[in-house]
Amino acid sequence: MHQNVKLTFLGTGTSQGVPIIGCACPVCRSTDPRDKRLRASVFVEYDGLSILVDAGPDFRMQMLNLGISHLDAILLTHNHKDHTGGLDDVRALNYIDRRAAEIYCERNVLDELIQEYPYVFAFPRYPGAPEWHLHVIDERSFLVYPDSEERTLVWMHNVGYHYRMPDGRLIPTCRSLEDMIDRADLAEEAKGDGRNAVPVLPIRGFHDHLPVLGFRFGDIAYITDMNRLPESEFDKLRDLKHITINTVAYNKHHSYFSLDEALALADRIGARHTWLTHLSHTFPRHEQFCEDLRALCRERRIHSDVQPAYDGLIIE
Ligand SMILES: [Zn+2]
Ligand SMILES: [Zn+2]
Repeated sequence: MHQNVKLTFLGTGTSQGVPIIGCACPVCRSTDPRDKRLRASVFVEYDGLSILVDAGPDFRMQMLNLGISHLDAILLTHNHKDHTGGLDDVRALNYIDRRAAEIYCERNVLDELIQEYPYVFAFPRYPGAPEWHLHVIDERSFLVYPDSEERTLVWMHNVGYHYRMPDGRLIPTCRSLEDMIDRADLAEEAKGDGRNAVPVLPIRGFHDHLPVLGFRFGDIAYITDMNRLPESEFDKLRDLKHITINTVAYNKHHSYFSLDEALALADRIGARHTWLTHLSHTFPRHEQFCEDLRALCRERRIHSDVQPAYDGLIIE
């Protein structure tokens, strides 16, 4: 049983972040650090593995703020720029770790990344382009493996990265798209090869008509950018200590849960703690928002302790 999970919020803001460029509202002008919200992302330490969920435009600052210099995996919830716009910056980790970034996403996300980052997928390789190793996932649980020492990235001047194989051979990192993509091992099928892999359970949801994934790590689940969670997924959300749910405003929205919908969901799922994320400046300042939520939850008898998350918050 995997129990050792710690989650750090790297960003809890909506797609534009908070403050918003040019806005002079009280939230955007607040001096409370908890009202400064980078784009939504979390860092999960899970039985010794370092897992990032989403790499938006603030990825670089988020790595620097927390002093992160190693990731075993980057999981993508969906392909919107506030969640994938920072993927070029994994170059720094390629250099430190001497390995490609291990990126887990759905096939539709991968197809769009190929359009949006053509230079990453171009052959022959441009020296210095980010090194990605992609794993295609779906709603089924999958395993994340720790650093493999089988293949080390070696920088070769004017040529770019090559892999050093266990027998000492140097081979180009990719000769075709197929070289860059793996099917993630499905937990049911994976026998495990002695390495300390951790299981991740994806949660299917919808962001308007766009399918997105949330993820469950042990007794912590992270859901963002959804406005609908199909009935089939509630079984995956039992007995949680913590859940994160997105909400962007009080009013009904076509692609995000409204606050009412998020509270109803928190009540139904009944995790001990519910943390709200992807927050916009339409909610009050952090302290006021905490107070408003306490009153609302008392009044509606919500079966969970609901609070707004903030950048830097750690839960375990
Ligand atoms: Zn988003
Ligand atoms: Zn504002």
